[in-house]
Amino acid sequence: MVGTQWGDEGKGKFTDLLAGDASMVVRYQGGHNAGHTLVVDGESFALQLVPSGVLYPHVTPLIGNGVVVDPFVFLAEMTMLSERGVDTTRVKVSGNAHLILPYHQQLDALHERHLGAARLGTTKRGIGPAYADKSMRLGIRVQDMLDEKIFREKLRSALGHANKVLTKVFNRLPIDPDGLADRVLEECLPRIQLCIVDSVDEIHNALERGEQVLFEGAQATFLDLDHGTYPFVTSSNPTAGGACTGAGIGPRHVDRVIGIAKAYVTRVGAGPFPTELFDEVGDHLVDVGREYGTNTGRRRRPGWLDTVMLRHAVRLNSLTDVAITKLDILDQLDTVKLCTAYRIDGEEVRTLPYHQSLIHRAEPLYTELPGWKKDLSTVRSVEDLPANARTFLDVVAEQAGVPISLVSTGPGRKQYLEFS
Ligand code: GDP
Repeated sequence: MVGTQWGDEGKGKFTDLLAGDASMVVRYQGGHNAGHTLVVDGESFALQLVPSGVLYPHVTPLIGNGVVVDPFVFLAEMTMLSERGVDTTRVKVSGNAHLILPYHQQLDALHERHLGAARLGTTKRGIGPAYADKSMRLGIRVQDMLDEKIFREKLRSALGHANKVLTKVFNRLPIDPDGLADRVLEECLPRIQLCIVDSVDEIHNALERGEQVLFEGAQATFLDLDHGTYPFVTSSNPTAGGACTGAGIGPRHVDRVIGIAKAYVTRVGAGPFPTELFDEVGDHLVDVGREYGTNTGRRRRPGWLDTVMLRHAVRLNSLTDVAITKLDILDQLDTVKLCTAYRIDGEEVRTLPYHQSLIHRAEPLYTELPGWKKDLSTVRSVEDLPANARTFLDVVAEQAGVPISLVSTGPGRKQYLEFS
């Protein structure tokens, strides 16, 4: 399951729903910047790191090798869930996942400050620096905690580098490797070691037993490190291929790829956004859709649904179907629009240009449809959908080139309908 926009599509809602049929839900990339919100029986759970399936007793939630794990945050989330009565004993973490440690957070915040006006708007959780260390072969893996000697050695080596940057580049105090090792080993290891597994083995055993495994993407297609609007992207690969590398499966194991698309689009932070709205319709989408960051509280930038991007997401992820969320947020609008092409330098373009300067210049060409002006929050079947809402969805599916399978009409677990 992957987001087809810039995140905040409401992936948590459908992951939670589809987890009902899975025996395992696997996070394959990102860190505790996910910010999924699940609403079950009127109770809201904000998850940042633990996979959404945790709320089902039959699901094994697994944090895959491609994720970066802040052990302190992980344990805080596990404690929060246990205190609210959720069984966390099934949560597993790959021994090959990399750790985010306090110096990564410090470096994240310092880099952002150093960039000034060119800042990326990261969540400053150390995720980018932890992935950078992984690429530099300076990263520390979850499994390293299991061998104290190795853990201390690796931390000394990683901090040998990080401390030089902290002290000589940013004029900060160095971090004592042994002090940090003591903290992690005392505060985190006793609980985390119960969760550490060979995640590749666990996943393949489940597949061999014929069970369904759901791979849950965090962030989204256009925040992908390779395919997003670089540099305003995340530091991992949320696109479907990331599920293969971040969990240790080959592409032949993937038999369905569901793209989550909100009925409109939002984006947090900087970067190009062709269908961005600066008018009262945009304000309406932000107000009614409560488009403020789960983790940061930042106002998201609103815009109309962009099927040029959706078609690109279909290609990048081999989407088999699309699930639409937050259709109810458009309920009160007189007319609804969706972008079907761009005009760039006088020419009509239906595919996303690779050159980002062109995306900045793209003028969206819209199809405008009449609104349905009805409350969709209680609609549970296609038959009960107002005709105009159905037309909107039909046009989206036609433009996307793949079917819409599910439509969400409210935050609750039961507020959705199967669409065909
Ligand atoms: P994610 O980052 O893609 O996982 O987005 P979230 O799961 O955090 O979803 C964003 C918010 O939208 C959450 O508060 C959800 O409860 C809410 N939400 C999800 N689907 C719907 C929907 O169909 N309608 C409404 N009104 N809210 C929804």
